[in-house]
Amino acid sequence: MPSYQTYLQATKAEIKETDLQSVKALLDDPGRTVLLDVREQDEWVQGHIPGATWIPRGFLESKIEDAVPDRDTPIVVYCAGGARSAFATRSLQTLGYTNVQSMAGGYSRWKGSGLPWKVPKVMTPEQETRYSRHTLLPEVGVKGQLKLLEASVLCIGAGGLGSPSSLYLAAAGIGTLGMIDDDTVDASNLQRQILHNTERVGMSKVDSAEKTLRGLNPDVKVLKYKARLTTDNVMEVLKGFDVIVDGADNFQTRYLVNDAALKLGIPVVHASIFRFEGQLTVFPGEGGPCYRCLYPEPPPPEEAPSCQEAGVLGVLPGIMGVLQATEAVKLILGLGQTLAGRLLVYDALRTRFRELKLRRDPKCPTCGEGVDRSKIELIDYVQFCAGA
Ligand SMILES: [Zn+2]
Repeated sequence: MPSYQTYLQATKAEIKETDLQSVKALLDDPGRTVLLDVREQDEWVQGHIPGATWIPRGFLESKIEDAVPDRDTPIVVYCAGGARSAFATRSLQTLGYTNVQSMAGGYSRWKGSGLPWKVPKVMTPEQETRYSRHTLLPEVGVKGQLKLLEASVLCIGAGGLGSPSSLYLAAAGIGTLGMIDDDTVDASNLQRQILHNTERVGMSKVDSAEKTLRGLNPDVKVLKYKARLTTDNVMEVLKGFDVIVDGADNFQTRYLVNDAALKLGIPVVHASIFRFEGQLTVFPGEGGPCYRCLYPEPPPPEEAPSCQEAGVLGVLPGIMGVLQATEAVKLILGLGQTLAGRLLVYDALRTRFRELKLRRDPKCPTCGEGVDRSKIELIDYVQFCAGA
C-alpha cells in the first residue's frame, strides 16, 4: 500500500505542473484559460487570485461540467500548496479534460511572492439567512444578492409611492437608499404612507423613513436629503445612483428628474397615481422613450390636478410603489424585461391592467434624434401641486 507521499509523487508524475510566472501572465491575458481554485471556503474567503473560479475539491467532479463545459478548455488548478491541485488535475484528466495543469507551490507561494490577490465579497451568516429566499433563486443567487447589497437607489419622495418602494427595496437588501423629501409627516398622510406612523406626525419624512428602513434592515445605508429638487441641486443629488425611483407628486419634479437622469444616464422607474388609477413605466438610462415623449410639456397650471383636492385610494400607491421596486430590482440584476417602452395603467375599480406602447419621439427635446444629452438645459417649472 503506497504512503501519502508516494501517492502524491506518483500523481504528480502523471500530470503537468506550471509555475507562478506562467500563471501571472494569465492575469494580463487570460484568453480561454480557466484559473481554478479548489480550496475550502474558509481559505477562499481569506483571499484568492483575481479572476479565479472557485470549486472546492470535494465538489470538483460534480460541478466542473457546469463551470467548464468544453473539455478542451485550458485549466490551471491551484490549492494552498500544490498537493490538492495535483490530485484535482489528475481527476479532471480522468473526466476527459485535455489541457489541465496544476500550479506548483499553490496560493501560499503565490501570495508569498508578492503576486496580486484579493479578498472576495461574501455575505455574513446573518445575511445568508436574511436573503436565503433570494439566493435560492438561481436567477439571483449569492452573486445577485451581493449586487443588490452594492447597489444604490434614489427614491424621489418619501410619501405614497416612496413608502412601499423603499420598504421593499430595503427588505431586498439594496445597500444604499437615497430618500429625498422636504416635507414633514402629517396625519392625512397616514392613510397610505406606510413608512410613517401616528407617533411621528410632525417629524421630517426622511428622518421617519430612515428609522423605519433601518429598523427593517440594518444592512441598508440611508442617505437623507431634506430638500426639494431644483435645478441647483438635482445633478448633485442624482449623481452616482444606479436607479432612480420617481414617486414625485408634481410635474416640475418629474421633468427635472427626467432631464437630469438623461444627462447622467441613470434609468428612472416612473409612477404616478390619481384617484383610482395608477401609471407605471421605465425610462431607460441609455435614453428614451422618456417622460417628455409621454408628456412633451407640462399642463397649464389651471389644468393641473391638485392632489389634495383629487384624493386617492390609499392602497393604490402601495400597488404602484411595489411594482416600482420590482422594476428597480430587475434593473439592478439585469433580469427579465423591464417596462421600458411600455406604459402600464392600473384601474383599481375595475381591477384591470392595460399596457400601452410608449415610443421614443424622434423630435423629443431631451431624448430625440441628434440631441446631445449632456447639453440638456434644466428647467424649474412653477409649482402647481403641493399636495400628496
Ligand atoms: Zn423623450
